[in-house]
Amino acid sequence: MAANDLSMTLRFYGAGGAFSRRYGTTCSGLTLPSGKQWLIDCGRQAPDQLYAAGVSWHEIAGQMMTHVHGDHTFGLEDFAFSRYYSADAKHGVESILGGGPRPKLVCHSAVRDELWETMRSAFRFAGTAHGGTSSQATLDTYFEIIEPQESLAPDRESWPAAERFEVDGLKLWTRDTLHVPEKPSTSLEIAVEGERVVRWSGDSTVHTELLIDLQERATIIFHDCTFTEYVGQVHGSFDALAALPEPLRRKIVLMHHEDDLEDNRERAEKAGFRIALPGHVYDLHTGQRRS
Ligand SMILES: [Zn+2]
Ligand SMILES: [Zn+2]
Repeated sequence: MAANDLSMTLRFYGAGGAFSRRYGTTCSGLTLPSGKQWLIDCGRQAPDQLYAAGVSWHEIAGQMMTHVHGDHTFGLEDFAFSRYYSADAKHGVESILGGGPRPKLVCHSAVRDELWETMRSAFRFAGTAHGGTSSQATLDTYFEIIEPQESLAPDRESWPAAERFEVDGLKLWTRDTLHVPEKPSTSLEIAVEGERVVRWSGDSTVHTELLIDLQERATIIFHDCTFTEYVGQVHGSFDALAALPEPLRRKIVLMHHEDDLEDNRERAEKAGFRIALPGHVYDLHTGQRRS
């Protein structure tokens, strides 16, 4: 099928879990119909993953963050400082310090607070255009912070159950999910056309009801998966995913898996799941893999 220029695609730079050495920490590139590139999460290996893929930080228009854990967040300092201090002549992008644009940042407000808490020691010192250093820098020194258009009342936590954003033609909800209890962690629901959405679970346990509710509307669902079952599960249990209805399983791409993937591939594929690997590209409108 010919590639549809108006479609959105998602490329996995890293597809592995927190301790994966084979598949890399989480970072994916979203290419919008406008050609703009956004990132979903920016794990500790993201700087090297993007370098290996030939992608410059200066080509990135915006960043979405699901939650603050190193395998999703620790590449962000490299991103921020590269953009702040360096220009990219090849892509014609000036440094932020030299007047260039800041990448946009979309995340739930509770995640943003944790992000600042985590990055503060590195981020609060920033060079100034007149030489010297300011110790008063904030997250918006490096990123153009996008504020939510709408917030849903808190549900089981003290922060909004969901926040809605619109930017660069992107329309999405960041939704509170159950990962580590009491920690702000969110999924992303990105609109593709009309009522159709793409769901990105972030790190999350399996929310069966919510997934069944998306069975018709979702073009594709990317879900955190662990093949290790344990009490107090904080990830997407494979057994819980395998218990979902088959048509739903066929829409799910397992991601954030650990290095025991090949031991489990057969049963995962038999159950109808697809499996994300670094370099895979998905068309978010058709839900099909492009390469
Ligand atoms: Zn993780
Ligand atoms: Zn996590």
